[in-house]
Amino acid sequence: MRKTLAYLIPLTFLLSACQSPPIANQDNPAPEPLNAWTDWNDREIFKSGLLPLYQESLDELPGASIYHIDYEIADDLVHLTGNQEVRYTNQEDIPLDTIQFHLFPNLLGGEMLISDVSVGGVSVSIEYAQNNSILSAPLPAPLQPGENILIQISFVTTVPTELESNYGILASTEGVLALAHAYPMISVYDDEGWNTEYPSAQGDVTYADVSFYLVRVSAPDDLVMVASGNEIQRKSTGDRQIVTFAAGPARDFYLVASSEYVLVSGKFGEYTINSYAPEDAGEGSQLALDVAAAAIDYFGKSYAPYPYTEFDIASTPTYALGIEYPGMTAINVDLYDLSSNFGGTPASIYLESTIAHEVGHQWFYNFVGNDQLDDPWLDESLTQYVTWQYYIDRYGANSGAEFAQALDGRWQRIESEKIPVGLPVTAYQDGEYSAIVYGRGAFFFDVLADQMGAEAFEAFLADYTQSHQWGIATSESLQDIAEEHCKCDLNDLFTDWIYPSQ
Ligand SMILES: [Zn+2]
Repeated sequence: MRKTLAYLIPLTFLLSACQSPPIANQDNPAPEPLNAWTDWNDREIFKSGLLPLYQESLDELPGASIYHIDYEIADDLVHLTGNQEVRYTNQEDIPLDTIQFHLFPNLLGGEMLISDVSVGGVSVSIEYAQNNSILSAPLPAPLQPGENILIQISFVTTVPTELESNYGILASTEGVLALAHAYPMISVYDDEGWNTEYPSAQGDVTYADVSFYLVRVSAPDDLVMVASGNEIQRKSTGDRQIVTFAAGPARDFYLVASSEYVLVSGKFGEYTINSYAPEDAGEGSQLALDVAAAAIDYFGKSYAPYPYTEFDIASTPTYALGIEYPGMTAINVDLYDLSSNFGGTPASIYLESTIAHEVGHQWFYNFVGNDQLDDPWLDESLTQYVTWQYYIDRYGANSGAEFAQALDGRWQRIESEKIPVGLPVTAYQDGEYSAIVYGRGAFFFDVLADQMGAEAFEAFLADYTQSHQWGIATSESLQDIAEEHCKCDLNDLFTDWIYPSQ
């Protein structure tokens, strides 16, 4: 995520329109179950979304969860009915008694009501926690390591009609329906057990293992839908469209839709970039596409090739500058008006730095995962650093120095205080999160490069990226790989910059 400087971007809140009752589109016959499409073990359906280089990933992640989701978007763009079946495999070395899901709409200003949960085909009674944002499904018998089980969940979600909490990532406003984390999302099981930590309002909210997603969406036929992954089938039934997307490996499935979107598209070698924005934002949309192409090319050469055959950019009314999702990004629509400026800085400058940053997250958040609540620096600080390198590579040292000055400006907002970079989001007070994780944190990587030597640092960053492919990094694993490459002890440096003071 790239956060808004509140004084730069005006917040535009739409008053809540009157809401019609929840849908139900009775005219259509019951669709064929998604499971009829594909055997749970057959991952061919995901192949078209991956570069050939990454197609072997399909066989290398036998335990990754597989989601089959049916979404029905009501004509009011506010109500979402869903049915999800997910195959979960116990990848831990102990038996599990429950499977826990995040119901993010219940903490993003919306409401997700669960009507039915069954485990292995048997209806179960579930428990909720944390203001109904966690659902715990009991298992009929402990799930042994390596075993898998099917969990089916029916739900109805009401999407907020104002940009509520967390940057308005889940909202139906200004004709744009943004569906972030809108399905029951399996928690990560880690050294804390089921990691169901309650997210702060100022950072990203998810922490997820890579999964596969087959998602079929029924929606009004004038909506242009943009989603993680690739569209693999489209049908029309009267005034509705039924579109199926396949995505994965990926850490989430995001969907955004508007009848106002106009597509600008470009093909770059093995992948396609699609940029969606309202017609009057066309110039900004083209710039967004050009920057994304340059950034994907540079990060791909430097760290690891971009894994997917598609990257999508969609403008939304979010009040962040931009937000990252697997295979796509949502960008604040105000940045597309290239004739405007924010505090004297042209919108084009913000648009370029935001797009480059969100593209960077395809490597550091999606390809290499991390706990975004406890270790936000692993995705945000590193993404700020690689964005800085993008400027140097594309425009030269002066441009890099200007970007560094902007980073320093962030840090100076708290008098360049040496607060550790590696704290959980919740440990930072107002203003500190942005200043430290988005400012000071980028300089850590510069200092690390100095200490390691440029060549060892470059090799380390590529190795860090590739060795954590589709996995989860930690501060310690980053330090270990850096030390392997410099053959040196970096403890003092990490203690000075990253780790909480004792
Ligand atoms: Zn970010």
